[in-house]
Amino acid sequence: MPRRLGKNLNGYFGERIEVATVLRDCLAAARTNGWSAEDIPVNENLSLPALMRRGRVISSPGAEPPRVYLSAGIHGDEPAGPLAMRQLLRENRWPQGLSLWLCPCLNPDGFARNRRENAAGADLNRQYLNPQAAETAAHIAWLERQPAFDLCLCLHEDWEAHGFYLYELNPDNRPSLGREIVRRVARVCPIDTSPTIEGRVATEGVIRPTLDPRDRPQWPESFYLLTHKTRLSYTLEAPSDFALAARVAALVIGVNTALALLPLRPENPHPPGNHCP
Ligand SMILES: [Zn+2]
Repeated sequence: MPRRLGKNLNGYFGERIEVATVLRDCLAAARTNGWSAEDIPVNENLSLPALMRRGRVISSPGAEPPRVYLSAGIHGDEPAGPLAMRQLLRENRWPQGLSLWLCPCLNPDGFARNRRENAAGADLNRQYLNPQAAETAAHIAWLERQPAFDLCLCLHEDWEAHGFYLYELNPDNRPSLGREIVRRVARVCPIDTSPTIEGRVATEGVIRPTLDPRDRPQWPESFYLLTHKTRLSYTLEAPSDFALAARVAALVIGVNTALALLPLRPENPHPPGNHCP
């Protein structure tokens, strides 16, 4: 089992990625495997890739498959997310019965600078209530055109963490996927079992924030998703003071576990329509 490297003190000092190459690889794998692709225009120099794949419910061909949204790369110093997206697209082991929407990198300019924020210095994951950043405004405009999702997964990293952990936003108390995700990730990556993580109560690597998004002025992507697009969201946090391969493996297993469990849930839910503002 990998151990803490001890080199990421007060910031991330680990491996960097050539994000343009990773995104080209994502697109190539997606095209090979029958996904459709869209560029979300941000400005004349920047666009965000979005990938879509329509699922099929084999047991009842007319049925609408559950819809899942995945994103990564909103923080430019968290390379494991886009790398996990690339691996998932290359492996192409997505459950047939799910429709998928995938944003493999929401902050390409941040990766070019190896820093959390975008080129203008904005933390894009604090922009989702009143977006000032062009990336976030473009992303929200795109999300508004998409249907509601049964599940949203946001891939992140945390250089302070002692292991993998996740945030679960599940206001209707649906059957939780959190514990099983952690249990399976534990095969490849240590879990942060601290009783508090990032100032929040955690249970065996699962944080269930009880905050009402309306009380918070700086929304992360997940608050926007919970308010407008879904009733079940997980933010997966790989520990970036561990070897990159273990972090990528943790995120890949986390995603695969969530996708495998979703169709098995009793209510096979759909949120009530697209309740965008
Ligand atoms: Zn992050």
